[in-house]
Amino acid sequence: MRKIIIAGNWKMNKGLDETRDFFQEVVSALRGVELGSIVPVVAPAYPFLAEALRESFGSDILVSAQEVSLNSDGAYTGEVSAAMLKSLNLPYCIIGHSERRQYHNESDANVQHKLLKLLAHGITPIVCIGETLAQRDANQTEAVVLAQLKGCLQDVPLKTGTEIIIAYEPVWAIGTGRTATPEQAQEVHALIRSWMMENYSGVVATNLSILYGGSVKPDNLALLLACEDIDGGLIGGASLKAEDFIEMVKIAREADLLIGLCQSGD
Ligand code: PEP
Repeated sequence: MRKIIIAGNWKMNKGLDETRDFFQEVVSALRGVELGSIVPVVAPAYPFLAEALRESFGSDILVSAQEVSLNSDGAYTGEVSAAMLKSLNLPYCIIGHSERRQYHNESDANVQHKLLKLLAHGITPIVCIGETLAQRDANQTEAVVLAQLKGCLQDVPLKTGTEIIIAYEPVWAIGTGRTATPEQAQEVHALIRSWMMENYSGVVATNLSILYGGSVKPDNLALLLACEDIDGGLIGGASLKAEDFIEMVKIAREADLLIGLCQSGD
């Protein structure tokens, strides 16, 4: 059974006190809540990862980094390596976010390099891909997404499908308030899963969690999660409010219970 991941990407938001307050509120609200296959993940800024880990210790909330260096160690001012993230025991790291691609010229080759570094350190990469509005309007969505998948996963060995997470984030839906419709998102998620099936195996395709990202909020999450190939969300703005994050974790749990009931035929 695939994990349903509700991942908050805080980007460059929240300082030390706000990070601590958020985690205290979320940990306390979710204490004792049976989460089943739902995994709540939060990605704060680098300086506050240790605080987030301290506050979430012993809870179901996992912590992710937002980026990792291409390099292993040495004279790279301002960079943070996969080994450093591993020394914190971080389970996840986002790579290939469209903001990194846009503002830091990050290429699929860079993402592939980072992905291999994270895998070598036992950290699960959350690999972001997605088309721009101009590409969608030019009917290039499928070609762009498949080219990104091919580039990011070049020579990446996957056996179980649980080694990585893919986040499909149409660039036109990030931070714009404009969400892809569940149909638009499902179409691309199904495309990604069938590519994984053809290029890896049925096991990899079945186990792979594919998240949708782009203006997800409590109001639209349930409909997205009802789609067969959408296994959670990578959420920016709406993950900043503890209240909304808690609500989205609970919505995911309800959606999962409902799907379980339908599958068991009860
Ligand atoms: C994101 O940062 O990955 C994102 C999807 O942001 P938002 O939810 O604010 O659109």
